[in-house]
Amino acid sequence: MEIRIENTKTPGVKVTENLGFGKHFTDHMFMMDYNVEKGWYDARIVPFGNLSLHPAATVFHYGAEIFEGLKAYRTADGSVQLFRPIENVRRMNNSAERLQLPTMPEEEMLQAITEFVKHEQDWVPYGAGESLYLRPFLFGNDEALGVHGIQNSRFVIIASPSGSYYKEGINPVKIMIEKDDVRAVRGGTGFAKCGGNYAAANRAGARAEEKGYTQVLWLDGVERKYIEEVGAMNVMFKIAGEVVTPMLSGSILPGITRKSCLELLREEGYKVSERLLSVDELLEACKNGTLEEAWGTGTAAVVSPIGKLSFDGVEYIVNNNEIGKTTQHLYDTLTGIQWGRVEDKHGWIVKI
Ligand SMILES: *Cc1c(COP(=O)(O)O)cnc(C)c1O
Repeated sequence: MEIRIENTKTPGVKVTENLGFGKHFTDHMFMMDYNVEKGWYDARIVPFGNLSLHPAATVFHYGAEIFEGLKAYRTADGSVQLFRPIENVRRMNNSAERLQLPTMPEEEMLQAITEFVKHEQDWVPYGAGESLYLRPFLFGNDEALGVHGIQNSRFVIIASPSGSYYKEGINPVKIMIEKDDVRAVRGGTGFAKCGGNYAAANRAGARAEEKGYTQVLWLDGVERKYIEEVGAMNVMFKIAGEVVTPMLSGSILPGITRKSCLELLREEGYKVSERLLSVDELLEACKNGTLEEAWGTGTAAVVSPIGKLSFDGVEYIVNNNEIGKTTQHLYDTLTGIQWGRVEDKHGWIVKI
């Protein structure tokens, strides 16, 4: 795939302090368009700037949008690397298939990501826990209001130099179990990384934040009984020595951090099970002291300990509101591999 490059004439100043998350962007973006007859065309790296879209563009009216999130890491020797980017490529294509957006050959999407990162590599920050967050996204771009199969789409990648996701660092977070709203149902779009899932989550998220909780923990959409996932993270619990996480049933996002944690834990001989976990079982484990640890997993936060769970107005404390041993171990191992401090025995790292 040929990528046309148009460099900016007005390079931006690189922010190095208080990066935050997703607030600052690099000088360029990757873009490529799709038409049913032409296929993918005009791969290009162009100056970062506003998109100009037709007011009838599909994405504004019918929510045809999917995205990915991954990071480029700066290692101690100054090189830049990615963590399992092929997994993001495959998930993007699975999401695209669900929303009937066009898929892209894996090698081409991977090439788009790696060449774009190479072009922007000076923007990968050097500070501890900092990274260049990459946000590929794809949306329907037909210039008409009729609802038919999508004829035109656009794929874009933007990059944001970011600090640690949680301002407080790796302190345990407070999570509210949501009773009323649901995020997704089996057969719906829960397994796809699409903007619409986030739109459906907004109201519960706002209610949780109002009460001082960081994120919502969703229950299944049918019985409102089984644990699904947190806002932008999968969840794991250590109950009586065993790591339990909800199975991938179609309504939760198949996280790459989740997959990596499960692979590491199984290799190390932990007892791990992917199964249904009811909120009653979880709270009972909390009350009888068998709930040893709880944590969320996701690219942005990596591994995030959960210190408090609230359900029906009652607050439950997990592991004395401290980070547990397994949580800390996973955090250290994964961030170690990602930043090049721990040997990559799995072939997860792609050097830029
Ligand atoms: C992205 C995301 C996750 C985490 O996936 P990773 O691949 O580990 O980053 C979990 N849940 C939702 C809803 C997400 O959008």
